[in-house]
Amino acid sequence: MSNFFVPGPTWVRPEILKEMTRPMIGHRGAEFRELYARIAADLKPLFATAQDTFVMTATGTALMEAALVNCVNRRLLVTTCGAFSERWLAIAESLGLEVDKLAVEWGQAIDPEDLADHLTSRRAHYDAVTITHNETSTGVTNDVAALARAVREESPDTLVLVDAVSSLAGIPVRFDEWGLDVCFASVQKAIALPPGIALVAVSAQTLARARKMPYRGTYFDFLEYKKQADSDGVPATPSIPHFYALSKQLTHIIREETLPARFERHRRMRDMTIERTAKYARLASDPAHASPTVTALEPSTSDAETLRYAMKERGFTLGGGYGQWKERTFRIGHMGDIPLKSLEAMLDALDKVASG
Ligand code: PLP
Repeated sequence: MSNFFVPGPTWVRPEILKEMTRPMIGHRGAEFRELYARIAADLKPLFATAQDTFVMTATGTALMEAALVNCVNRRLLVTTCGAFSERWLAIAESLGLEVDKLAVEWGQAIDPEDLADHLTSRRAHYDAVTITHNETSTGVTNDVAALARAVREESPDTLVLVDAVSSLAGIPVRFDEWGLDVCFASVQKAIALPPGIALVAVSAQTLARARKMPYRGTYFDFLEYKKQADSDGVPATPSIPHFYALSKQLTHIIREETLPARFERHRRMRDMTIERTAKYARLASDPAHASPTVTALEPSTSDAETLRYAMKERGFTLGGGYGQWKERTFRIGHMGDIPLKSLEAMLDALDKVASG
């Protein structure tokens, strides 16, 4: 049973924590290569791709930077709908890139037609467009398939860079079918591992672009990851405990629970959360795009922090509001390995606390 409902890091099953205490192995030896090969095979169905995938000892923010240094020479379009999609802007500016922004209000999703219109009306060519699949600050899931299609149709050589940090393994991601170029996730969200590594899928077009980028840095160079991955290795010393845990967790996700059942459990957790909180809290974001992994709520019976504190006293940890929604909202993370029964128990307690 879990009593931890933060939208990342999420609850980690005890057997996974135990896996992280196994003895070290050398990362250039046969044992590590076998471990890596097993992981690489399971990453294909996770991203629904036949293209390259890598594991980086870094977090999601690092992968945003990695995507930009490998793919964007000059100009970037960032789509924003909350705090994490806005983070791309700050990173791009810190790299000296020319950035345009297509923004919607917090709580809304990006409209694929607006993206298509923006791309046709601007004469500027973008090296890449960023899309945040699931905006964790507001609990909004963007329609990546439709957004990527808009980019493919309006500007075929613009790369599509997707943050799937709080969606991968909780919401379907179809890398090849949707025509994505970079898609990444840190593991402390719906994958339900302790924070510390990140997973990424890259297209052939991305690797071709990286080859043309003269200054890709060192640690984030996708071509170096590709070279090493081709012989089941990584460029620098990885977090080996995470690799043990990832291998076991991917077996669980793909072969024990299975992806369709996992996605269904996440949808049920979302629906249960929205339904059971409706009498004392307003869904802060557009219901048509309500996220299966995190819900941002505006309580009507007390302020968000008081509610969270009262729940903490009863042994349940909920997420606070984020960024400009910090005061107004609290967030319930319902992703990863959280059993439905745990969510039900938490919602029972919240009902009592909020109904006063
Ligand atoms: N993108 C999204 C959607 C996130 O929710 C987060 C973290 O919560 C990040 C990026 C940053 O990831 P990390 O904290 O792993 O660097």
